[in-house]
Amino acid sequence: MHILEAQQLTKIYGHHLSLKKALTNVSLSVEQGEFLGIMGPSGAGKSTLLNLLSTIDTPTSGRVMMDGRDITHLKGHALAEFRRRQLGFIFQDFNLLDALKVRENIVLPLAVNRLPVDQLQGALTHVASVLGLSELLDYYPSELSVGQRQRVASARTLIVKPQLLFADEPTGSLDSQSATEFLQYLQTINGQEKMTIIMVTHDAFTASFCKRILFIKDGQIFSEIIRQGDRQEF
Ligand code: ADP
Ligand code: ADP
Repeated sequence: MHILEAQQLTKIYGHHLSLKKALTNVSLSVEQGEFLGIMGPSGAGKSTLLNLLSTIDTPTSGRVMMDGRDITHLKGHALAEFRRRQLGFIFQDFNLLDALKVRENIVLPLAVNRLPVDQLQGALTHVASVLGLSELLDYYPSELSVGQRQRVASARTLIVKPQLLFADEPTGSLDSQSATEFLQYLQTINGQEKMTIIMVTHDAFTASFCKRILFIKDGQIFSEIIRQGDRQEF
């Protein structure tokens, strides 16, 4: 069952005198439970593709379907609701609130929805254990390493159980050991929580944690690797 489908996506930035074709007729399907990597050099169109798949931006032509529903041109309240209920985002920057403890940062999206305290606590305990944060809940973000802060940001995203998780260069500010650890947590989230993940990176090591990798260059998909068995470097 395809959770996400892109049909003939083309994106042209700018107007008349300065047109930039960032993406040309890109089509792809993502299955429920996949851990998909989108890899390519700087300027290839990775962020553009991720932005189109995740309703952050709209294509010049083509469409994006989620669970068979056309989500290409959702607007206003419908768009905000759709994103809030279905999508999660992890970026290179964490945007944690320094005045709040780790536990408060993580439950923030649920607290906004005024969930009962016992449900909040249950969700927090679960996500903290999945991301290896159980011992860190009473610290402040400034007391943590960057790797730990990235996991806190991820926990805050995951606590609402999005259908689809989008990650744009999530290890961009991590050293290689924290990056490896973080990517292993993403694999756990993918395997154990059956979370569908789409991750953009220019880095082969980071991409090697994905189950399937699409390579893009000059705004087009030019090859695909499907990984069998354990992670391998290439
Ligand atoms: P990547 O994420 O692979 O580095 P991007 O999707 O950011 O690539 O960019 C693809 C191409 O489109 C690049 O040439 C980039 O300079 C251009 N581009 C991206 N965003 C814009 C924009 N808002 N306006 C004009 N050109 C853009
Ligand atoms: P990334 O590292 O994720 O590829 P970039 O540094 O390429 O991000 O781009 C950062 C932001 O600037 C993006 O939102 C992108 O759309 C925009 N951008 C990239 N290239 C251009 C450009 N030539 N003109 C205007 N905006 C651009």
